[in-house]
Amino acid sequence: MQILIAEDDPITRLILELTITSLGHQFLSAADGRQAWQLFQDNPVDVIISDWMMPGMDGIELCQGVRSHAREGYTYFIFLTALDDKEHLLKGISIGADDYLVKPLDPGDLEIRLLVASRITNLHRELGTKKAELESLNAELYSQARRDHLTQLNNRLALWEEMDQINELSKRYKQNLCLIMCDIDNFKKYNDQYGHQAGDQVIRQVANSLKNTCRKVDKIYRYGGEEFLIILPNQDLQSGGIAARHYQQAVQNLAITHEGNQDNGTGIVTLSLGVASMFAGSNQTLEDCLQEADQALYLAKAGGRNQVVLFEGTNPE
Ligand code: GH3
Ligand code: MG
Ligand code: MG
Ligand code: MG
Repeated sequence: MQILIAEDDPITRLILELTITSLGHQFLSAADGRQAWQLFQDNPVDVIISDWMMPGMDGIELCQGVRSHAREGYTYFIFLTALDDKEHLLKGISIGADDYLVKPLDPGDLEIRLLVASRITNLHRELGTKKAELESLNAELYSQARRDHLTQLNNRLALWEEMDQINELSKRYKQNLCLIMCDIDNFKKYNDQYGHQAGDQVIRQVANSLKNTCRKVDKIYRYGGEEFLIILPNQDLQSGGIAARHYQQAVQNLAITHEGNQDNGTGIVTLSLGVASMFAGSNQTLEDCLQEADQALYLAKAGGRNQVVLFEGTNPE
């Protein structure tokens, strides 16, 4: 262990230094509290053995400083005191010291204290490692819970959590928003003909193509099984429609054979897309806008699939 000695009496200091070395530990030596405080800040320290009365900064101030100074691991604090000084001792322990040694120093006592100190600092070290592991695991779990396993896109939970923030962007910062709801055409038939695993692969390919087509500021979510939602900030209905056609084209360019998708005579995997927009400062919420994008998607399906429909304010019913 690295042991910091804070002691203004040179004889006591020398005895401490010799005993610590003979027990196989290393030491840093300070002749007053201020110097000890500086050494503590500049070096890793496992244990501090501190005198009570010292010029400049006394043992109490040093102990308080050490306890209020956040750093990794734990510094075990031992006071050096006269045997009859119980009142001071109680104060020292209550402000954060761990143990005490009486003067004149008995080397056997010091060895016992250092054995305990080593056990305690090791425990703290293990706790620190476990805490860091838990924190990183927690962060990973948090992000996993919000990510779709198949496509690595944000999932529905992420969307619900971000909705307030997105509504706020529109209301407070007067941002227009555009939503594109995408749905793979006749996908049930694809699964029926090529199997579920091949279907999964298609969902992954479509997700990647959407990711590659989207701009940095746009957000894509896996909204449902074969449904994706794209949120485009600062876009109106017309520019959102142009973006939607890019997405539609990108998926067509994959040219994945899908014999059951014959509505438009394509025979390849295609998307239907519904687009709706939200005007900055309007009373509309993202939830309203989602419904409108959904209605436009319904029209795209009814109109023969593999197409983009903009929500123009009329109810398809
Ligand atoms: P439409 O063109 O009207 O959208 O027809 P559809 O067949 O795509 O729509 P429907 O809602 O009838 O079926 C969706 C299909 O998507 C059914 C379901 O098995 C499939 N699906 C949903 N999630 C997954 C998934 O994670 N993997 C696979 N392979 N298929 C999925
Ligand atoms: Mg002293
Ligand atoms: Mg669907
Ligand atoms: Mg579908």
